[in-house]
Formats: sequence, structure tokens, C-alpha cells
Amino acid sequence: MGRVFVAGSINMDVVATADRHPKVGETVAGKAVHYFPGGKGANQAVAAAKLGAPSTLIGRLGVDAFGQQLRTFLAAQGVDLALVQDTADVHTGTAVITIADADNTIVVVPGANALVSAEDAAAPVLAKGDVAVSQFEIPQATISAFFQRARAAGATTILNPAPALACPPGLLELVDILILNETELGLLAQTALHDTDEPARFVEAARRLPTGPDTIICVTLGKRGVLALIGGEPSLIAGRAVKAVDTTGAGDCFVGALAAQLANGTAIRDALAYANAAASICVQRMGAAPSMPTAAEVAELLA
Ligand code: ATP
Repeated sequence: MGRVFVAGSINMDVVATADRHPKVGETVAGKAVHYFPGGKGANQAVAAAKLGAPSTLIGRLGVDAFGQQLRTFLAAQGVDLALVQDTADVHTGTAVITIADADNTIVVVPGANALVSAEDAAAPVLAKGDVAVSQFEIPQATISAFFQRARAAGATTILNPAPALACPPGLLELVDILILNETELGLLAQTALHDTDEPARFVEAARRLPTGPDTIICVTLGKRGVLALIGGEPSLIAGRAVKAVDTTGAGDCFVGALAAQLANGTAIRDALAYANAAASICVQRMGAAPSMPTAAEVAELLA
């Protein structure tokens, strides 16, 4: 069995709820405050670990209370933190989220995540059969260096280019499996896309991306499921009919589950169906990292 290595962000999400959002310069009384472990890197590493894959996170935390809490939480989820460094003079990545009127405002301060370096990403010893995963919440030069090493070792590379940001030249050529939603696809393909568009629109946009010739492209479409282009040929894996209560982290669950399955030697089409099922469990629960399913739960759903 291979290992999953995730180079990515680790955040504490501080969520305040209120009856309404304050206007600029105004203070309103809130109702509650919650602290949720987050960051796309951490969420994806937790998803892979809970599904039974040996999962190592490469990242940075500040030397502060959030850093300690996140370390404790991630270790309890079974994530290997040997390559997560505590970094002096910088705070742990923090997202400040206000929820009111069923709408949210979010300020994300990357903190230590912005310091995850190419040297950090060079630390793991990757081997054939391993899976290297990253997202756009750490410096892109770090991701390029990480994927170059992974490719040289014969590992599979997975990029989830989220949040939607432009991509540096050459990075997509280092990607074996690209997993993105319609917003990220629209930005990278430089075309306006909407989640209600016909699949043909996504196929056309995906074919325009400067990936390598063998890159598998997976466009996640929320409750509609996932559109996969394998060898350039599209196929739609329909979303599972469930009652979604909170879709936060669904994309991260999908990425982590797919990585775990590929590390386990599962063929890509079966791995995609598995990840689609895992993510459908995630959306039925509140939160991101805490809502990732276990291998037993996915097995029961697929039985
Ligand atoms: P987020 O940023 O909230 O993590 P995303 O936009 O990256 O989400 P989505 O496309 O919303 O990712 O969801 C990822 C996957 O999760 C989908 O491809 C699907 O497998 C599953 N999923 C999401 N929403 C639903 C839903 N309502 N019902 C069933 N499955 C869902």
C-alpha cells in the first residue's frame, strides 16, 4: 500500500453567528462562537487518514494556542504530523467567519501557511505507489517543487487548485489528476461557467487547460456528482441522492478519499465512485474535518 502525502494549509476557523452582519464601523452582539479545525490541506489529510490510508501532512503552524489545538486534533484523526513544523514569529493560519442572515463573510489570514517552502516539501521520501496532494492555500512554487519530486519518485500527483487562483506556467503539466469545481475550471480555462451549465460546457473548458496529455480531469459538480475526463473522454458519475445539511469540506473529502483509494491501488474509475460516495456522507453532517466519513461508513453505503 502506498502513502498519501498532503502539502497544504492548516487553519483554525473561528465562526461567530449573529442575527445580522455589522455595517462598516458598527458592532453587533453575536449569538455564539465556534472553533473548527480547517484548511484544505488539513481537511484532505484527515479525509484520507479516516479512510484508512497512511496520511502525512506537510505544513506549518505558529507557536500559539491554535497551533497546539490543531496538532492535538489532527493527531487524534490519525494524521502523521512529523513534517508539520512549529514556526516562531508567525501565527497559525486563521479564518474569521461571520454567519448571519444565512450568509457568511470570511477573512482568511494565511499566517504560517504562507511559509510552507520548497525545502519543506522536499522532506518526505516518496516512492512509487505514493500519492502527493496539494491545493492553492500554500505558495505555488512549493507545490511545483513538491510535484517535481513526486513525479521523479514515480508517485501520483493530485492538484486541487482551490481557492480559484491563476496557475503558474508549467504547474498543470506536473499534475496526474486535477480535481476542481466549476468556478476553478472557469478561472483556469478563462471562460464563464455556472453550476447549472450542461456537462458539454465543462468538457469543452477542461479540454482547453494546459495539462499534460494524460492528465485526468475531475470537475466536481456538487449534488450532480463529478464529470471525469479520462484520456480526454468524459463520463459523468452521478451524485448520490442524499439530504445535504452542510456542504463545507465536500470537495476536500472527495480529494482525500480519491487519494486514499489510489494509494490503496484501486483503479481510477472505482476510486472516483468511492470518493463520490464518501463526499455524499460528508455533506450530511456539519463542519469540514469533523464530518469526514470512516472506511466502514463508506463500505456500508457501497455494500
Ligand atoms: P466545497 O468548497 O464546499 O468543499 P466544492 O465546490 O469544492 O465544495 P462540490 O462540487 O460542491 O465541491 O462537491 C464535491 C463532491 O461532493 C461532489 O462531486 C459530490 O461527489 C459530493 N457532493 C457535494 N454536494 C453534494 C450533495 N448535495 N449531494 C450528494 N453529493 C454531494
